Amino acid sequence: MMRAVYLDHAATTPLDPRVRRAMEPYLKAEYGNPSSLHRWGRRARMALDAARETVAAALNADPAEILFVSSGTESCNLAVIGCALKAPPHRRHILVSAIEHHCVLHAAEWLISLGYTVDYIPVDRYGQVDPDAVRARIRDETWLASIMHANNEMGTLQPVEAIARICRERGVWFHVDAVQTFGLLPVDVATIGCDLLSVSAHKLYGPKGVGALYVRALTPLQPLMVGGGQERDRRAGTEHVAGIVGFAEAVRLAQATIPAEAERQTALRDQFIHAVLETIPDAALTGHPTERLPGNAHFRFAGAPADSLLIALDRAGIAASSGAACSAGSLEPSHVLLALGWDETAAQEGVRFTLGRDTTWDDLAYTVEVLRQEVARIRATRSPVRPRAGGRAASQKTPLR
Ligand code: PLP
Repeated sequence: MMRAVYLDHAATTPLDPRVRRAMEPYLKAEYGNPSSLHRWGRRARMALDAARETVAAALNADPAEILFVSSGTESCNLAVIGCALKAPPHRRHILVSAIEHHCVLHAAEWLISLGYTVDYIPVDRYGQVDPDAVRARIRDETWLASIMHANNEMGTLQPVEAIARICRERGVWFHVDAVQTFGLLPVDVATIGCDLLSVSAHKLYGPKGVGALYVRALTPLQPLMVGGGQERDRRAGTEHVAGIVGFAEAVRLAQATIPAEAERQTALRDQFIHAVLETIPDAALTGHPTERLPGNAHFRFAGAPADSLLIALDRAGIAASSGAACSAGSLEPSHVLLALGWDETAAQEGVRFTLGRDTTWDDLAYTVEVLRQEVARIRATRSPVRPRAGGRAASQKTPLR
């Protein structure tokens, strides 16, 4: 039987069986609408309230500050667009980093179409935002800044606490996309000091299609969904009770494993990075060597385009990714890698491996061996055989790029 090695946990994680069991009653007998006054409704409401308390406690927030939404994408859209729509006409300036997820970048573009101005904060070669670069771009008109906690492609962690302090000093609302960190690392809204923060259930072994937005009390927010009073009038629509119950159970389970699981994944990741760099010629680690998500290892294999390599890995039973899952399948170079200053060719040669709770060293050792063979094979098929001085062919190990 072919081996199955799933190393794409940043794209999504499997549903934990304990989470599925917690959800089951709400997919069966407990089908009440939490807005209904009868007992079916009241039981659903109690489940929703308990879930809100769990998520709020994990984030060190008040339950009234947590809105349940349909995804991390909706959470980021609501934070960025919803907060920006409350800006007075003379404050329509927004800051985002160049490496945000598209759910923030496209929200910012949409605001541009409404007449807002957006500045993109650059990152250094490790993919980090310099807090002083944020400070330098804040103007009197700046209303909102949105900087992610960890980048989903190369895993770099951002100095969000320092950025939050600057935003607070300058009276700028601050949103943090914590979709990649929640459940893996501590995410404490009081320690970070942000006004808005986004999380998603399916990155922490919960169900897909459920997310939450933390909104600090008094933060301005224009609802994007209208037509019902749910979520304290901030997000209309009947809540996905089973999904939200599953989200809370996933959060509860994840909180119990921080920091032990983060330490385990960090050690495995470092061993994997070391083995890849030792074994594969011209392999380079992308992102920060230490300030990165515990389970993230991202490499550039020069001369081996990511799409060819991902197909080869998939044939060997290994799931990896070339970056954001939503841009997989298209040949667009990654905007994150371009922001590192890479050229278009290089930006198509980035491959991401993200470890999970079940990943073992055995899985990673197998991956290193497959990578060794496949990177060499792809480079050999692609590098033109050029006659060198003396008539010998150029080494096929050295790609001509
Ligand atoms: N933000 C980041 C950093 C992500 O990695 C993702 C998902 O890949 C999202 C937002 C969107 O979350 P969801 O898939 O729940 O819409």
